[in-house]
Amino acid sequence: MKSNQQQFYKIEKNQVTNFDAIVIGAGFSGLYMLHRLREAGFSVRVYEKGNGVGGAWYWSRYPGARCDSESIYYNYTFSEELYKEWTWSSRYPEQAEILRYLNFVADRLDLRRDIQFNTEIKAAHYDETHNLWRIDLNDGTCVSAKYFITGVGCLSVNATNVPAIKGLDRFEGKWYHTGAWPHEKIDFKGKRVGVIGTGSSGVQAIPVIAQKAEHLTVFQRTPQYTIPARNRPLDLEFIEKTKENYSEIRRQMHESFGGFPGNRGDHSALEEPPEKRQSVYEAAWEAGGLAIRSTYKDIMTNETANNTVSDFLRSKIREIVQDPEVRGKLMPTYFFATKRPVLDTNYFETYNRKNVTLVDLRKSPIEEITPKGLRTTEAEYELDFLVFATGYDGVTGPLFKIDIRGKDGLSLKEKWEDGAQVKTYLGLSTAGFPNFFIITGPESPSVLSNVPVAIEQHVEWIGDCIQYLHDHGVETIEAKAEAEEAWSIHCKEVADSTLYTKTDSWLTGANIADKPRGFPIYIGGIGQYRQIIDEVAAKGYEGFSLVTHQKTKSYQ
Ligand code: NAP
Repeated sequence: MKSNQQQFYKIEKNQVTNFDAIVIGAGFSGLYMLHRLREAGFSVRVYEKGNGVGGAWYWSRYPGARCDSESIYYNYTFSEELYKEWTWSSRYPEQAEILRYLNFVADRLDLRRDIQFNTEIKAAHYDETHNLWRIDLNDGTCVSAKYFITGVGCLSVNATNVPAIKGLDRFEGKWYHTGAWPHEKIDFKGKRVGVIGTGSSGVQAIPVIAQKAEHLTVFQRTPQYTIPARNRPLDLEFIEKTKENYSEIRRQMHESFGGFPGNRGDHSALEEPPEKRQSVYEAAWEAGGLAIRSTYKDIMTNETANNTVSDFLRSKIREIVQDPEVRGKLMPTYFFATKRPVLDTNYFETYNRKNVTLVDLRKSPIEEITPKGLRTTEAEYELDFLVFATGYDGVTGPLFKIDIRGKDGLSLKEKWEDGAQVKTYLGLSTAGFPNFFIITGPESPSVLSNVPVAIEQHVEWIGDCIQYLHDHGVETIEAKAEAEEAWSIHCKEVADSTLYTKTDSWLTGANIADKPRGFPIYIGGIGQYRQIIDEVAAKGYEGFSLVTHQKTKSYQ
C-alpha cells in the first residue's frame, strides 16, 4: 500500500509485518533505495547485518583501506545539496572517511529510523498466493513485502573467501580476513605477520603492515600490476570548483563509459609511434590512477595493444625493485587490467625493505597452516598474525548466502548454478522471481564501473519502476525468459569481444573452487547501459510481464 504518511514499525519476535518494500543492506545501495522509495511515499524497511551503515566500507577496515575511485566521484550525485555539503579531504578516500560520508548521508536524510541493524535476512520466499515476499530474519521474525530488493553488492562480508587450507583451526596466532576486519585496532608492532593475497586489498595492506611489523612475509600466487595512486590532500580551490561544476560533473559521470568524467583514447595503441606511446604511458604513470587503462581504445580488446602497456608496467617494476630475484617473482604475465586493476602507495617499494620476504606460491605452494605459522613445500614461516587478503566469492556469492526462492519454490542458487550460467534481465531481475530487484546485480556494469554511479542508475530505475507499477495498478512484474536469454547472450558477446575473459580472476569465478565460470558483468559502458535500461522503461517495461488487477488475498 502506498501511503503519504511516514510509517513506523515495531517488529516483535514472531510478529508478521508487511511493507511495500524490503531492502537488504545499508551500504550505498540500500541507503539510497530507502530514501528514494520513502520519498515517494512507500513503506520501506532495510535490514543490515552490521551495527551501522556503510556496507562493505563498514567491514573492510584493514590497514591502508582506501577506494580506487577518486573521492569527488565516489559519492551520490542525486542531490546537489548533499553533494555540496560534503567535502572530501584527499584525492582517494580512505575507508574511515567513506564511512563518515555514509553516516553523514544517513543522518542528513534521517534514514536510520527505517533501518534495522544487527539483523540478517536468512531466507526470502515468494508467496504466489498472496503475491508477497516472505522474509525470515535471523532472530526468528518473519516479515513480508510486495517488493524484495537486494543491496548486498558484489563483494560482501557474507561471502569472504577464506581458502580451505589444512590446519587453520590449529593456528596459535591470530588470523583476519581483510573484508571482515575487527573493529578494534590491531597492533602489528614487533609482530611476525603473513599476508596471503596480492589483489586490491593485499596491495593496500602490505605497505602499511610492513612499516609496523617486525617482519612481513607476503605469500603471492599471482604477481600483480599496480599503478601509483599518487594520493594527495585536496585543496580548497579545487573543491570549490568541483562543487560549482556539480551539474556538468554529474552529467559526464552518468554518460561516461566507466562512471568518471574524462576522455577515453580514440585510437589504437598500435597506430602510435612507440616514443609517443611511451610518453603517454609515462604521463599516465606520473599522474597516477586508473586512467592509463583508457589511454588507447584497444587496450582491453587487442592482445598486442595490451602488451604495450603491460610491458611498460613491467619495466616500472624493474626500475623500482632492487633485488633481481624478488623482481622476477613480482613480474606479472597476464593481460593488464583483465584482473581488476589495482592502485597502490609504495607497493613495489615495500619489497626493498629488509623486513619483507616475498614467497612465490607458484613455485612453492602452501602445504598447511601449522600451530606456529605457515608451511609451503619449501619452508615453514613462523607467524604471530596471518592476514587473508584472499578476496570474495564475488557477484553471486552474496546473493547465494540468502535462501532466495521465487515461483514454485525455485531457488536462485539452483537456477543459476545448475544452469551453470547466471541469467538476468538487464542485471536487475531474473525470470521466475516476480517483484524482485537486484541493485548492481550480475550482468550489469557494477564492479567494472564507478560503483556509486552504477548504484544510482539502478536505484532510480527501480524507484521509477515501482512508482509506475503502483500508478498503473500492476500487481507483479517479472522478467520474461526470452528477454533474459537475449540479455545474457548480449553480455557474453560483449565480454568475449574483450580480453577480460582470457584471464582467471574473481570476475570469472575462477577464484572459488567448483564455481561455474562466466563473466557476469556488462562491460558495454555505463552510459550505454543507461540508454538501454531507460529505453526498456520508456517502452512500458519491454521484456517484462506485468500483471494487473490480479485477485490476490490480502495477507493477515
Ligand atoms: P582479490 O582481488 O580476489 O585478490 C585475492 C588475492 O588472494 C589474489 O592475489 C589471489 O591470487 C589470492 N588468493 C586467493 N586465494 C588464494 C589461495 N588459496 N592461496 C593463495 N593466494 C590466494 O581480492 P581483494 O584484493 O580483496 O579485492 C577484491 C575486489 O574488491 C577488488 O578487485 C575490488 O573490486 C574490491 N576492492 C577495491 C579496493 C579499492 O578500491 N582500493 C580495495 C579492496 C578491494 P590469484 O590472483 O592467484 O587468485
